[in-house]
Amino acid sequence: MGEMDKIWGQAREELQKIVGADSFATWIEPLKLTEVEQGNAIIACPTRFLSDWVSRHYSDDILQVLDRLGAPVSRLTFETRSQTSRQVQAAAEAPKRPSRVHAEEELTAPLDQRFTFDNFVVGKPNELAHAAARRVAEGGPVTFNPLFLYGGVGLGKTHLMHAIARETQLRQPDARVLYLSAEQFMYRFVQALRDRTVMDFKELFRTVSVLMVDDVQFIAGKDSTQEEFFHTFNTLVDQGKQIVISADRAPGEIKDMEERIKSRLQCGLVVDLHPTDYELRLGILQSKTDAFRVQYPGLQLAPGVLEFLAHRITSNVRVLEGALQRLFAFASLMGREITLDMTQECLADILRANDRKVSIEEIQRKVAEHYNVRLADLIGPKRVRTVARPRQIAMYLSKQMTSRSLPEIGRRFGGRDHTTIMHGVRKIEELRSADRSLAEDIDLLRRLLEA
Ligand code: ADP
Ligand code: MG
Repeated sequence: MGEMDKIWGQAREELQKIVGADSFATWIEPLKLTEVEQGNAIIACPTRFLSDWVSRHYSDDILQVLDRLGAPVSRLTFETRSQTSRQVQAAAEAPKRPSRVHAEEELTAPLDQRFTFDNFVVGKPNELAHAAARRVAEGGPVTFNPLFLYGGVGLGKTHLMHAIARETQLRQPDARVLYLSAEQFMYRFVQALRDRTVMDFKELFRTVSVLMVDDVQFIAGKDSTQEEFFHTFNTLVDQGKQIVISADRAPGEIKDMEERIKSRLQCGLVVDLHPTDYELRLGILQSKTDAFRVQYPGLQLAPGVLEFLAHRITSNVRVLEGALQRLFAFASLMGREITLDMTQECLADILRANDRKVSIEEIQRKVAEHYNVRLADLIGPKRVRTVARPRQIAMYLSKQMTSRSLPEIGRRFGGRDHTTIMHGVRKIEELRSADRSLAEDIDLLRRLLEA
């Protein structure tokens, strides 16, 4: 049994005495202490409804009990467990008839605290989607309905939807915003069919002010769910209620989706999130780094690391975030500065998967061409500045753009020692931040090589 389980076991006994058996069974029993971190106790709750209630009514009792048991806790954070796992679980249980309040609370998937407009970094690839999302969140007369957001995995669809939900709720506290994934919509619908509560289900959905359905491609091929979705959709649009939908592709490209639904989905504004570009990735990395610095105070980050990641990890933002998270955790564990070397070591698997396969030879050729020196000279022993500097730039780019080790790079530069390569890389790193035109040169070369 873990430490947390032990403390929580004792705390539960105490709490039961304080609040009584009935309240205990309803409110405290379903909770679980998962973590204590710097005086903050994380308590997992199965629903938001429960967490709201408990935090309002039982926070003091819980804090007191934990304190008495000697747990170093001064704050409580209630976390709602992932909706999906809970519902899979719920689907397997015998059907229960939930009360109305519970039903509504459980319909809305928990919103991720981090997914706000403030935390969303805007760049060329996502500016239109972002502007449209903002506009919808501002409310007022509906200008486009539905808003249909689409794009590849990990590009920020769910983030924007949560941001809309949160912002709408802030601006219009009375509005009933319902956010859920298409998968949850289906589970709920199937459950309602089984429990013979379809009327309640319909009623609930048709009285919301804003309906948001994430990953709608999920209901493709699920005929009765599609049918129900279509009717819900039409009713709400007819009432002038705002609808926001996301999918991994454009409406017209969703297979096994009824034509009438596709055309309905297209009648508002359809905007896509494009794959990220270098600038956006760097912006996201910088913004996440600021957040990590709070979490890991005192960690040093060598110059060039974020640029390196922005160049090398191009798949999607989720992978980029995961990489940064791992890097910070690793560095803090080791108590070391985050350097380029550490980054390459720590993220080798991710980097390999994202390898864009620029070869050292290509880099050498492009650099030689760009600076108008002979390839043989670039690789050879000449030490004149006009050759030595481009050579160092080629070394730098080789380190940044390939996953070759320093000794391997050395071998391809006429059998140079790895310390020579390291020196070259450092030199360019230094110059880069001081010399604008050199920095621009390097960016240009990189773009040429990536093209
Ligand atoms: P999708 O729903 O499109 O698959 P998500 O919205 O879940 O993608 O985004 C994946 C992760 O990337 C999330 O943690 C999200 O916060 C982050 N993310 C995506 N785009 C941005 C952005 N422009 N700015 C900041 N974070 C982003
Ligand atoms: Mg998503």
